[in-house]
Amino acid sequence: MSIPLHAYFQGKIVPYSEAKISVLTHGLNYGTAVFGGLRAYWNAEQEELYLFRPLDHYRRFLNSAKLLRMEINHTPESLTQITIDLIRQSHYRQDIYIRPIAYKADEVIGVRLHDLRDELAIVALPFERYLKNDTDAHVTFSSWRRIDDNAIPARGKISGAYINSAFIKTDAVLAGFDEALVLTQEGHVSEGSAMNVFMVKDGVLITPPITDNILEGITRRTVIELAQGELHLTVFERPIDRTEIYLCDELILTGSAAQIVAVTRVDHHPIGSGVMGPITAALRENFEKAIRGHLPKYQHWNTPVYLSERVMQHN
Ligand code: PMP
Repeated sequence: MSIPLHAYFQGKIVPYSEAKISVLTHGLNYGTAVFGGLRAYWNAEQEELYLFRPLDHYRRFLNSAKLLRMEINHTPESLTQITIDLIRQSHYRQDIYIRPIAYKADEVIGVRLHDLRDELAIVALPFERYLKNDTDAHVTFSSWRRIDDNAIPARGKISGAYINSAFIKTDAVLAGFDEALVLTQEGHVSEGSAMNVFMVKDGVLITPPITDNILEGITRRTVIELAQGELHLTVFERPIDRTEIYLCDELILTGSAAQIVAVTRVDHHPIGSGVMGPITAALRENFEKAIRGHLPKYQHWNTPVYLSERVMQHN
């Protein structure tokens, strides 16, 4: 994996090697940090890099920070502008991933959220595929349960909470699967380790509600909008039982890193006919067009990184 060229760190853009924190940093010791994960996609014809739904990502990021009582003196717009400046500094002309993180920065002993200083950092690095098998993934049901809203809220993208995801992912991979689905304490299907889940049954798209301990994914929202707007599908947000998954026609995982993944087997049960289904394929096709700026109807999702720089050079 590539390393970032630059970082936004302590209020300015610096070479990545200068963005360093201490071993006693609160966020490192207690997981008191929140993060985001967004992508920008290169459009070679237009020579433009499109940031995908940055305002939605940064709204969620600031909400996660709010849960941890952080004071980040930024708006979604100002964070988007910093991201654009950071990417321009590195002159990326390829698909990239952007990782903003806000963390409790004091070097002190004592677990708490209050009376601590908050810091913000953002890095951007070249990035391609997250899941190797994204057209015929094999997943399992994890023996772990999803963290609960009354323990660690999953709707916040909280660093410490990702131990739950790491348990889920590593057990699945070491057992030979690509990914895992995790159930809520009540036994409903929640999501993957870092992806939301959709199933297709009788032509209807169904996904767990936001009250089933999911992260409210931006790709999830995108898939719902494309399914309704382009494929004219009905979409239900409702609790899903484990065995509904074994019997569904198509199964999909979504995330900014993973994008749209076709799951073709769950615990050695073939899903549908055992190959990627037509709705998954159509969603992937529409998604790929939208993120690269080829669907005018959804161009408001894409923020061009280099446009205003080019306009300034021409003037
Ligand atoms: N669930 C979890 C636990 C995640 O970490 C992610 C990745 N951010 C998602 C779902 C998908 O969210 P998004 O589409 O916004 O990347």
